[in-house]
Amino acid sequence: MPADTAPRTSNISVRRGEPLVVIDHVEKYFGDLHVLNDINTVVNRGEVVVVIGPSGSGKSTLCRAINRLETIDSGAITIDGDVLPEEGAALAKLRADVGMVFQSFNLFAHKTVLENVTLAPIRVKRMSRKDAEAKAMELLERVGVADQAKKMPAQLSGGQQQRVAIARSLAMNPKLILMDEPTSALDPEMINEVLDVMVELAEEGMTMIVVTHEMGFARKAADRVLFMADGAIVEEAVPAEFFDHPKTDRAKDFLSKIL
Ligand code: ADP
Ligand code: MG
Repeated sequence: MPADTAPRTSNISVRRGEPLVVIDHVEKYFGDLHVLNDINTVVNRGEVVVVIGPSGSGKSTLCRAINRLETIDSGAITIDGDVLPEEGAALAKLRADVGMVFQSFNLFAHKTVLENVTLAPIRVKRMSRKDAEAKAMELLERVGVADQAKKMPAQLSGGQQQRVAIARSLAMNPKLILMDEPTSALDPEMINEVLDVMVELAEEGMTMIVVTHEMGFARKAADRVLFMADGAIVEEAVPAEFFDHPKTDRAKDFLSKIL
C-alpha cells in the first residue's frame, strides 16, 4: 500500500510522506532546569502528532523551539531539510512556513478580522491586497467565520477568535502548523467548534503538531501521541495504544488524572 493512502491508525511505522520536521538530540536548559532532555522524533509530511504531558513537562518549549521562538543548547531541528536559521531572512522564511496557533489566540487587537488574515501575506509574501483579501475570505469561510470579517477581534467569541487565528496561520500556506493548547482558554461550549476545524485540517493532510489534552481529537485525528514528562519523550505510540495501554507509570498516572 502506498504510504499516502495508508490508514492513519494502523501503526507508527506507516509513514504518509517524507520527513518534514527532524528533531535530533535536542537539549535545552533554563538555568539548572533541564527543560528538553534528548528529544528525538521525526514528523513526516501529512502526519498529525499530538503532544501531551503534565504541566511544566516542556511541551510549549518544544513547540517554541521548533519555530525558533526559543533557542536550543544542542542538537538540531530541521524543517524540510533546512537547519533552523538563527536570524535574518532565512528565519523569516521559516516562520512563514510554520504556522503557530497559541492558547491565547494572539490576534492583532486593533485590526479587523480580515486584516488579521491579510497582514502577513501582504507584508511578507508581497501579495496584492485584492488577492490577499480574496484568499482570506476563502479561509474565513472554511473555518466558518466569514460573516465576522469586518469586526474587531474583541467582538468575537473565543471560539471564533481561535478559528480566525487558524485561518491567519493558513493564509501563509504553511508546511506545518504548530498548535499549543489551542482550546485550553475556551469556554467548554466553544471547544468543539475549534476541534472540528482542526480535525478537518488533519483530514485534508496538513502536517500538524498539536499540544492538547483533548483525547477525542487525539483519537480521531492523530497518527501518533508523544507523551512528555520532565523534558523527555517518555512514550510514543498510536493514540489507541497510548490511551488504552500506556506502558509507563508516569503515563498511567497522568491519564488517570485527565480521563
Ligand atoms: P508545558 O508547556 O509542558 O507546561 P513549558 O515548556 O511551558 O511546559 O515549561 C517547561 C518548564 O520550563 C517549566 O518548569 C517552566 O516553568 C520552565 N520555563 C518555561 N519557560 C521558561 C523561561 N523563559 N525561563 C525559565 N523557565 C522557563
Ligand atoms: Mg505549555
